Amino acid sequence: MGNPTGFINVERALPEDRDARERLNDWFEVHQKMPETAIRQQASRCMDCGVPFCQSGESRFAPKVAGCPVNNLIPEWNDLVYRGRWREAIERLHRTNNFPEVTGRVCPAPCEGACVLGINSPPVTIKHHEYAIAEKAFDAGWIVAEPPDRRSGKRVAVVGSGPAGLAAAAQLNKAGHFVTVFERSDRIGGLLMYGIPNMKLEKHIVERRVNLLAEEGVVFKPNTAIGEDLSLGQLQQEFDALVLATGATKPRDLAVDGRSLNGVHFAMEFLSKNTKSLLDSDHVDGKYIDAKGKKVVVIGGGDTGTDCVGTALRHGCESVVQLEIMPRPAEHRLATNPWPEWPKTLLVDYGQEEAIAVQGADPRHYQVLTQKIAGDAAGNVTALHTVQVEWLKDSSGRMSPQPLVGKEKIYEADLVLLAMGFVGPETGILKGSALERDERGNFKAQYNEFATNVEGIFACGDARRGQSLVVWAIDEGRRAAREVDKFLVGESFLP
Ligand SMILES: Cc1cc2nc3c(=O)[nH]c(=O)nc-3n(C[C@H](O)[C@H](O)[C@H](O)COP(=O)(O)OP(=O)(O)OC[C@H]3O[C@@H](n4cnc5c(N)ncnc54)[C@H](O)[C@@H]3O)c2cc1C
Ligand code: SF4
Repeated sequence: MGNPTGFINVERALPEDRDARERLNDWFEVHQKMPETAIRQQASRCMDCGVPFCQSGESRFAPKVAGCPVNNLIPEWNDLVYRGRWREAIERLHRTNNFPEVTGRVCPAPCEGACVLGINSPPVTIKHHEYAIAEKAFDAGWIVAEPPDRRSGKRVAVVGSGPAGLAAAAQLNKAGHFVTVFERSDRIGGLLMYGIPNMKLEKHIVERRVNLLAEEGVVFKPNTAIGEDLSLGQLQQEFDALVLATGATKPRDLAVDGRSLNGVHFAMEFLSKNTKSLLDSDHVDGKYIDAKGKKVVVIGGGDTGTDCVGTALRHGCESVVQLEIMPRPAEHRLATNPWPEWPKTLLVDYGQEEAIAVQGADPRHYQVLTQKIAGDAAGNVTALHTVQVEWLKDSSGRMSPQPLVGKEKIYEADLVLLAMGFVGPETGILKGSALERDERGNFKAQYNEFATNVEGIFACGDARRGQSLVVWAIDEGRRAAREVDKFLVGESFLP
């Protein structure tokens, strides 16, 4: 804590995002970097707390205690940033996080929600420091491939190349095992590549890290679907251990009349095709669902829905609305949601900001239930029939949405995107396997153990915990790697 009064004298500040209208003309990242002197000043706001809640994301108590899931050594690198000791900062950051350049961009920053300064002041700008440390280190050439000194001779297959699979692969390779990552898509990265859009995470950032892992000795096999191109049984024969990190990619559907009309799509189809076409041909190949000139309705008020809003606006849609069944969150923390819990407050994310800039109003409509999707004689969607709901306790005492009489509303639509979350991992991979799933359909394994009921097969990330966050996927990949290492050689020195 270089500056003992920083938290009193310095106000929280972040760099301005790129202008909301201007950025709609391209697919580059929305956020910008702060000048170094300003970042160092921001770092001086850290109080080096005796109990740094920011860094202690204790999953047993989540969401009650919601600091950093990978236990980033936040006060330590805040101090190093303040002192301009960037090289030590990245070394400290890499001890707990394999991909700080990713979390520095896309993490919702539970650390900031739990920051002690946040009790009575705006919290420390922790996420921006993480981003700045990682980018400074890449620019300076400090992040280079570090292959292991020796090999154990053990072979591990990782299925799925999202942040959980990549973190597990990075750690197991570090421990000296031969690691092969199988991915059914044509590009490596999981949702970092084909879920989170370019304007939140440019794809050369993902490729830069994947290339380093390859240089370190991790073998990548894209275009290989396990359960189709190769069976789990074949992998079991060929490898000493398997890590399943296949994500929770099964989308929640909408069971209403008109669901099968043309123009009704899952959000992920819209987002992933868009990114692939952008990367393959700068959209010249036309192999994406174009929202240009369309009235777009996004069902789902979460991050995936927001990404659809931002993408549709970049296509040049005529209009976009985002429907959410839950009530509008409060502007400030409620007494029932105290620090250090994750603040469940209203956020205006980049997609809404852009919609406000273009349409003059927030695109989100709350407490809206879709009852029916209507179409024309040619089978194309034309409108959504909805009703306003209020949330009341039902006969079993659970809160449930109750339609309000006379509050029906029709939204015109020629593109409807379903962004209502995910219901677990796809299960094709389990064909012929006795691997158990839990009551939510996820691959069954205890947190911190990660072993499934089948010896030698481990599960981690969204496939094990359900749809979550990049930072949790990294945490699970790292912890699972430690358990696999122990399984293979009897002990583990992995952090
Ligand atoms: C649109 C969207 C936006 C998001 N935005 C954010 C955000 O801003 N911040 C944040 O923290 N989190 C965000 N998330 C959540 C985050 O991306 C996930 O929690 C995280 O990627 C999960 O990592 P994972 O490695 O477990 O799985 P995934 O990233 O889903 O990766 C799983 C991989 O396994 C592959 N696979 C599946 N089955 C097979 C098979 N049989 N054979 C071979 N490969 C297979 C898949 O193709 C995929 O590449 C977002 C999610 C979505 C959908
Ligand atoms: S809780 Fe906030 S102020 Fe305290 S050490 Fe962490 S970042 Fe610094």
